[in-house]
Amino acid sequence: MPYTIEGATGPWEVVIGLEVHAQIISEAKLFSGAATAFGAEPNTQVSFIDAGFPGMLPVPNRECIAQAVRTGLGLNAEINLVSRFDRKNYFYADLPSGYQITQFAYPIVGRGAVTIELADGTTREIGITRLHVEQDAGKSLHDQDPALSYIDLNRAGVALMEIVSEPDMRCPEEAGAYLTKLRAILRYLGTCDGNMDEGSLRADVNVSVRKPGENFRTRCEIKNVNSIRFAMQAIEYEAKRQVRVWEAGDEVRQETRLYEPARGITRSMRGKEDAHDYRYFPDPDLLPLELDAAWVEQLRESLPELPDARRARFIAQYGIPAYDAAVLVADKSVADFYEAVAAGHDGRLAANYITGDLFAALNRTGRGIETTPVSITALRELLALLKNATINGRIAKDVFEQMVETGEMPSAIVDRLGLRQITDTAAIDAAVASVLAANPDKLAEYRAGKEKLFAFFVGQVMKAMQGRGNPALVNEALQKAL
Ligand code: ADP
Ligand code: MG
Repeated sequence: MPYTIEGATGPWEVVIGLEVHAQIISEAKLFSGAATAFGAEPNTQVSFIDAGFPGMLPVPNRECIAQAVRTGLGLNAEINLVSRFDRKNYFYADLPSGYQITQFAYPIVGRGAVTIELADGTTREIGITRLHVEQDAGKSLHDQDPALSYIDLNRAGVALMEIVSEPDMRCPEEAGAYLTKLRAILRYLGTCDGNMDEGSLRADVNVSVRKPGENFRTRCEIKNVNSIRFAMQAIEYEAKRQVRVWEAGDEVRQETRLYEPARGITRSMRGKEDAHDYRYFPDPDLLPLELDAAWVEQLRESLPELPDARRARFIAQYGIPAYDAAVLVADKSVADFYEAVAAGHDGRLAANYITGDLFAALNRTGRGIETTPVSITALRELLALLKNATINGRIAKDVFEQMVETGEMPSAIVDRLGLRQITDTAAIDAAVASVLAANPDKLAEYRAGKEKLFAFFVGQVMKAMQGRGNPALVNEALQKAL
């Protein structure tokens, strides 16, 4: 069932296209040698070029260009061997040169595609229109002083990639899946850290609605959304708003809007009438960017394994279900953690512990895999204790909870709490005998043919042994005694 919004005049389809700004991982800026580290003291990472001093010459940073090419390759996109830098002219306090250097008519990367995975297990392909490289602006600080605004130019000149999608998405979930997948690809490639709360990845969300089968209608653009959840909420609100506008007999006007997370609404920022004329023209300080085809091929060959390929490999190599594999590869550091744990162990069991118990513990404690209380070594030891039958599966769950709580190694917990599995058949026989003696009625029922009671006896014997009995041996002893 396609996603629609039910209006008074019937169902409406939603059309979504995203423009994503991704900060390139690079030690230096796009056209200067100034540093790019996040969180530095204001105006400590600014060269004369970034500050827009007259007569300074920009020099393209080879690494930033390589990062853009890697990203284009990771998006299965055309790499344009000739591209061009243009000036986008506007006046703003945080843009000292009075123009942004960007790529307008000739971007470095052309058409590509991203495959997204949806909750129902289906996949869809979302088209990439283009990717271009540009400079970031500085930052105005309005909250430092009641009367004055301050300018921090640390961000001015930092390299960004703008990744533009086709209007191919049809519901908030698809937009969320696209952003999630795009972020994963960037992180795997090491071309953008994807940290939306630090502003290294932000999305402009274009939304329109239409009656099924119609051509596209006018869109609105929601600027600078800095979380995937907010993007999905903004789309839902905005689509419903546009349905109301059309159904009231009005027209949706093309405009730029802002999402207000606290109120869950979008509001108008500026209409198309106030759209700037940027007077784009080729930057006379920069030659056209010509890439060597052999260099592009080298970059292609040195690309790391990307999420789609890794997912397929996980399914084949570790024999885990497609869903588990998708969950594990969604975050590169989780996938790395999984592989380190699973090496030489039961891949399915490792996947179960990570996607089940570990994820639950991380959620509960509000942590990410980077600060996991259960280390790779500790989880591997737990799997080893299971494999060599030191503990059984039931006890392992308790040990895991202790590991989360105390950060101790599982063997230490097993010793401290005396959780070693009991394989001593005399002890097991004794527990069986006492359980049978304590339950004469159930024993009589069992012997009269109620075989289902076997599980009851297993449970009672396990309980009598504080859960530590070896399940196979307990079964065997019970069979014999019964
Ligand atoms: P601009 O450069 O003015 O923002 P573009 O044509 O480059 O305009 O489109 C920007 C984004 O808007 C793209 O991601 C595109 O997919 C999306 N888009 C274009 N038309 C529509 C539409 N009718 N509904 C929703 N999104 C759209
Ligand atoms: Mg736009």
